[in-house]
Amino acid sequence: MRIDQALSEAVTRLAHHASGETATPHLDAQLLMAHVLGRSRTWLYTWGDREIEGVELEQFNNLVERREQGEPVAWLLGYREFFGLRLAVSPHTLIPRPDTETLVEQALQRMAVTGSGRVLDLGTGSGAIALALASERPDWHVTGLDIVPEAITLARRNAEMLDITNVCFEESDFFSSLNPSARFELIVSNPPYIDELDEHLGQGDVRFEPRSALVAEQSGLGDLLHLIDTARTFLTPEGWLLLEHGFQQGEPVRAALVDAGYQCVGTCRDLGGRERISLGQWFEA
Ligand code: GLN
Repeated sequence: MRIDQALSEAVTRLAHHASGETATPHLDAQLLMAHVLGRSRTWLYTWGDREIEGVELEQFNNLVERREQGEPVAWLLGYREFFGLRLAVSPHTLIPRPDTETLVEQALQRMAVTGSGRVLDLGTGSGAIALALASERPDWHVTGLDIVPEAITLARRNAEMLDITNVCFEESDFFSSLNPSARFELIVSNPPYIDELDEHLGQGDVRFEPRSALVAEQSGLGDLLHLIDTARTFLTPEGWLLLEHGFQQGEPVRAALVDAGYQCVGTCRDLGGRERISLGQWFEA
């Protein structure tokens, strides 16, 4: 069968699947095909009239079938690109999202371009934020913590594969493993922030991702409030706290930052123009 024929059959299957899981059937099919053939997506446009056969065709159809069942493309490929880094993914952590790149950009903007920086990433998961910051600023030292042991294994594997050495990952329930005297110029987190009743949890990739990385108590605000309260004690004077949150949580998160005594409190929008990252700067009380 020709590559372009196999692709168009796959697109039809993905687009017409009863549960209508994917909004991007063309992109999904191309990514899976490129993966199976070990080629780029652009290669497919030029060489679509070539034949795909045997094992490769079988592999491709297999992946398309799994995608039809809703399995995230990142899992099928085994990786996701984040801030220009290719990160291995696993069922134990969130799949890195483009919206979270906004947090990385903001963190880089807030901090001086040169000089050392101690950075803490709480609930690091695959290590996406920690690794992006560490690779952008080789002078910094980044610590990533996560309560899930498999997340730490994955994050360390990602650091190793990317040869990023100014980062360390440790198992910890938020701040609990830190020495009380530890101080950071920057604390970042993409914690769980979804309300357990949110219908978003029943859609797309989120259905496959670990609940512990997504859902928080107090209508999704529980972990954010805990972080805002506790991070103060671990920030250096003028240190920044940057948090990702739900697009309707900007207001309560800003209010909590102000209540806790942070200054320069503000919110940044994600790629879709929604309030997604809030930040505050800590001056010694
Ligand atoms: N932004 C993610 C989503 O809506 C959730 C990430 C999180 O809970 N930290 O799918």
